[in-house]
Amino acid sequence: MKSSKPVKACSPITVGNVELKNRFVVAPMVTVYCDQDGMATERFIRYHEEKAKGGWGLITVEDYAVDPIGRGFWTPGLWKDEQIPSHAELVRRVHNAGAKIMAQIYHCGRQTVSALVGEQPVSASPLPCPILGEVPRQLTVPEIKKIVSQFGDTALRAKKAGFDGVQVHGAHGYLIAQFMSKYSNKRCDEYGGTLENRIRFPLEIVADIRKKCGPDFLVDFRISGDEFVTGGRTIEETRLIAMQLEKQGIDMIHVSAGTYESTWSIIPPMNITNGWIADLAAEVKKVVSIPVTTVGRINDPMLAESILASGKADLVAMGRASLADPELPKKYFEGRYEDIRPCIGCQQGCLEVLFNNEPIRCLVNPTLGFEYQDELKKAEKPKKVTVVGAGPAGLEAARAAALAGHEVTLYEKTDRLGGQFSTAAIPPVKGDLAAYVSWEVKQLEKLGVDIRMNTEYTAELCDLEKPEKVILAAGAEHKKPDIPGINGSNLVTATDVLWGRASTGQKVVVAGGGMIGSETATYLASLGKQVTIVEMLPQVASDEEFTRRVLMLKMFEEKHINVMTNTKITMITDTGVQVETGPDTVEIDADTVVLALGMAPQNGLAESLEGKTEVVVVGDALDANVHIKLSHVLIKSEPPVLT
Ligand code: SF4
Repeated sequence: MKSSKPVKACSPITVGNVELKNRFVVAPMVTVYCDQDGMATERFIRYHEEKAKGGWGLITVEDYAVDPIGRGFWTPGLWKDEQIPSHAELVRRVHNAGAKIMAQIYHCGRQTVSALVGEQPVSASPLPCPILGEVPRQLTVPEIKKIVSQFGDTALRAKKAGFDGVQVHGAHGYLIAQFMSKYSNKRCDEYGGTLENRIRFPLEIVADIRKKCGPDFLVDFRISGDEFVTGGRTIEETRLIAMQLEKQGIDMIHVSAGTYESTWSIIPPMNITNGWIADLAAEVKKVVSIPVTTVGRINDPMLAESILASGKADLVAMGRASLADPELPKKYFEGRYEDIRPCIGCQQGCLEVLFNNEPIRCLVNPTLGFEYQDELKKAEKPKKVTVVGAGPAGLEAARAAALAGHEVTLYEKTDRLGGQFSTAAIPPVKGDLAAYVSWEVKQLEKLGVDIRMNTEYTAELCDLEKPEKVILAAGAEHKKPDIPGINGSNLVTATDVLWGRASTGQKVVVAGGGMIGSETATYLASLGKQVTIVEMLPQVASDEEFTRRVLMLKMFEEKHINVMTNTKITMITDTGVQVETGPDTVEIDADTVVLALGMAPQNGLAESLEGKTEVVVVGDALDANVHIKLSHVLIKSEPPVLT
């Protein structure tokens, strides 16, 4: 018997009647780059165009609402003909750049709020989304028929705009998923109860699209293989649904996971294993003959390659990997693997801001969403630029300055590069942060940046070297509040513990339960220490991105970390800490107290450089409390300022 060759990422594939040049697909992700009427803006078009130029075979554009009430964010829309031209321009430019493009069409049902859509959300049943909490109105049968028709009409507008196909969004707990799952569908009519009834809505939608768009228009269907909620759909039912959808005429199926109640599985953070949904895709692939796409924390083309070679899926969709580096396929196929900027799974730019309905950013890619205005240009007159501090902000500033053609020297006072990213990579599940630091270092080497380690930058050095510009990225240091005993020998900082410059005894109190304190606590507990976190606020890790926070609280339980909230440390003693908790004053025994009570910017050098040269302060040295600061600050200080 002949063995078939393993599929490779660079292998073309024909889906429906559409030939894709490779197996790398951009997964749909809400960007909030369209205007409030769902029209494509230049920002939106350039963002997608950049990916098309980056070599992706297929781009799936996110969440085209079929009705304004079906929007959970300011998504694109094709619910009216007037929206076609701006999206036709998007399609034209993506096609010109060599990629195929599909419009994901959706209705969010109950996963929205009336403050956004202007009326009560709708759903299969009047059950609120456990996360958003608003009770939706149960759709009547005529209303269901109308939405079926809206899906078909939207697909037809996508066809008129030139899209190669549509992806029907049946995943992530949106309206179609609400109908398909017993978790959210409690109807007793022909659209509820049995599986046959619950899948009537998506089957009617697919039939209507086929009727209006014809047999040659590509139709994909996105489904959560498992909803990962109590009472939700599991892979057993998903397999049956996939078979029915194939019979109904879809051309491909995209297997994702989750609902809003399990957001960690829709957009898995760094805590979740890479490529973890591939097994669900493999289960679907066993029962259908159409191509199957997998997705889910795939941020490395080699991992994608291995999934394809294993036969678990025919195509690999990457979302956040394409935000971190829109040129991932091009670099990979050209053998420039080391140049691919890795997504670190932080969720801070692409998810945390989204739930404020704000445009997405990326912590490691400052130009994301600014492609339309931040053209990287060579400086007309290269300058002598000094960067002080090799944390993430300093590394990225040095890279941007060197790319613009400046002569760059980077000073780092310690023996390590990466600053707080290096220490933040130490706690459990956070190793991906180190990948970003090593990417930056490699890029700086290639760009010929002069890196001087173990050298404290001073005003005297500035006098000697006479740089034309100093970018101060000296980072932040732990705040030391005025608590009796704060200078005791049993007190160490969280950074020193993570860096390996300080050790702790067996019993540890972590003073401060913000992100740094909480993560340091998980690290110490993983070493078998007995850890208590003392936090003044009512909650711990309140500055942690919400999906990671949920998983962190689970880790606290697993590692038996004692958490004391609404509790204030009043004294640090030789044997531990004294705290006020409610009306009580309590002593907590500890061999070591780990300080994590906030960070303060280190920008004192700016004053001593005044009058000597031009100084720009970036990163933590500017603001130690803004999560998205890396992108935010660097976009303002990248080449446009330097040229
Ligand atoms: Fe990845 Fe973080 Fe960028 Fe999102 S913000 S794409 S998780 S690196």
